[in-house]
Amino acid sequence: MSNIGATARSAMTRGLRGLDVLRDPILNHGTGFTEEEREALGLRGLLPPHVHTQTEQAERFLLSFRKLTDPLDKFVALNALHDRNESLFFRILCDHIDEMQPLVYTPVVGLACQEFGRIFQRPRGMFIGINDRGRIAQILRNWPYQAGIIVVTDGERILGLGDLGANGMGIPVGKLSLYTACAGIHPELCLPVTLDVGCNNDKLRNDPFYVGLRQRRVTGAAYDEFVEEFITAAQEVFPGVVIQWEDFANHNAFRLLEKYRNRVSSFNDDIQGTAAVALAGIFSALRVTGAKLTDQKVLFLGAGEAATGIADLIASGMVAQGMTLEAARRTCWLVDSKGLVVKSRTDLAHHKLNYAHEHAPIADLLGAIKALKPTAIIGVSAVGGTFTKAVLEEMAKFNERPIIFALSNPTSQAECTAEEAYRHTGGRALFACGSPFDPVTLNGQTFVPRQGNNSYIFPGIGLGVIASKSKVITDDMFMKAAHTLAHLVTESDLAQGSLYPALPRIREVSAQIAAAIAGAALESGIAGRVMAASVLPEIEAQMYEPHQ
Ligand code: NAD
Repeated sequence: MSNIGATARSAMTRGLRGLDVLRDPILNHGTGFTEEEREALGLRGLLPPHVHTQTEQAERFLLSFRKLTDPLDKFVALNALHDRNESLFFRILCDHIDEMQPLVYTPVVGLACQEFGRIFQRPRGMFIGINDRGRIAQILRNWPYQAGIIVVTDGERILGLGDLGANGMGIPVGKLSLYTACAGIHPELCLPVTLDVGCNNDKLRNDPFYVGLRQRRVTGAAYDEFVEEFITAAQEVFPGVVIQWEDFANHNAFRLLEKYRNRVSSFNDDIQGTAAVALAGIFSALRVTGAKLTDQKVLFLGAGEAATGIADLIASGMVAQGMTLEAARRTCWLVDSKGLVVKSRTDLAHHKLNYAHEHAPIADLLGAIKALKPTAIIGVSAVGGTFTKAVLEEMAKFNERPIIFALSNPTSQAECTAEEAYRHTGGRALFACGSPFDPVTLNGQTFVPRQGNNSYIFPGIGLGVIASKSKVITDDMFMKAAHTLAHLVTESDLAQGSLYPALPRIREVSAQIAAAIAGAALESGIAGRVMAASVLPEIEAQMYEPHQ
């Protein structure tokens, strides 16, 4: 048995042989099966005779992959590999995370969702339609594995691209790939789910290749009952499964988070994960300026899930440093499509009210910057090009080191490019982005902008929650994640303008965050199991390594 790996042994235990093994992406290792595995699993003759190492298989894949020039073609090639040989897919993702993450996740996944119906090959995850009401538990039992984490979307607000309906499935799939690649959560534990309640995007619904239900969205009580049945069924079929809400529109995202957060182990990455990654970036920026968090005034362009999530966590951070909650909230200001969010406005959605302060109305971002003189601007509006030359120059007038985060995705929606941020602030911007940008050289100095990508946070949160079996996911866990991430930024990162660690360190980052999360669960008595006093080694031992 010495040359028979764990997955081959698992196939043997399940009595699987021959083509059943080669056609199962979790079990298949293609030409990588050893002589002994070929013998034991009845693979002789079904494979060419030479045994390749996983490294050789990866080189072969990359050889043809790197000849592709179109990002969508690259996405399709990666997806096809995922569908036939998962361990090789994850090996390549882990070893080339800088190159692969923008393809399996933002920005290219946005394009892939827009084209989902056209590039569709094999289904992945589960599609549960509104017409499946009454039998969701039965449907979930069709899933062949015991899920440990579900990323669920209803496709109504995919990245900054709006309603993509069932075509939004690319997002839960991509995110769960990152749970595995970045935090070593075993692929069998990961279940992507799309709740198909219809789609209000007429163009898409009328597209012959659209994969979802051809009806407008169901709303109100019928929607709520459907989600309730899904959550109850998920807990029944997969007891203790962690739920990550993904890309729900504002009117459902805040409600669902509040409704379920104390009932099941659940979180909304667009609100809470974004908050932790942005706050970590601010902590890094403050290491450069030497200023305190409580000295900051933050102006957001956008007033949705990302903006109010980040503002809430910043306010909690200020409270932890001695401010009252009211005073802390007053340091955060929002600009939405109608201008500055102020108390006198009568058109404000509930989630904006904590940040509706006393002030005269101001119509636009530049006017708000001139009036408020913020230390930081954070772009989460999904409207590209809105951090104009005038906006950036204004920020640089009264800030020695203006904090400029252009977080909107995909790249076409970014508020500004890295080059613009550095150029129009004379190289003084402390910059982070939502989509990847290449290094920028300005007056002989090279800046390396890094993405404030949620993938620094959510995989570690998931791993920590699964490892500790935490019954709920608390706000304190996101604060701990932000501190942990910021501590992992080195002085040399900061010296080149990077506010986040290098992406190839992501598994170390995720393990540290998971240890902090599990520690928090144990301390507050919400862990569902006993763990060793030092949790990090236990966490690291659980992480899936994509060997064959
Ligand atoms: P959302 O739909 O909840 O919020 C968007 C907000 O922008 C709304 O409040 C809307 O009123 C406002 N807005 C629309 N047009 C505007 C305009 N012209 N001027 C000012 N405000 C305007 O979406 P969200 O979840 O908050 O995400 C917003 C963007 O941030 C998306 O592009 C998303 O991909 C990106 N995002 C990035 C990260 C990251 O980089 N880590 C994380 C989360 C979200």
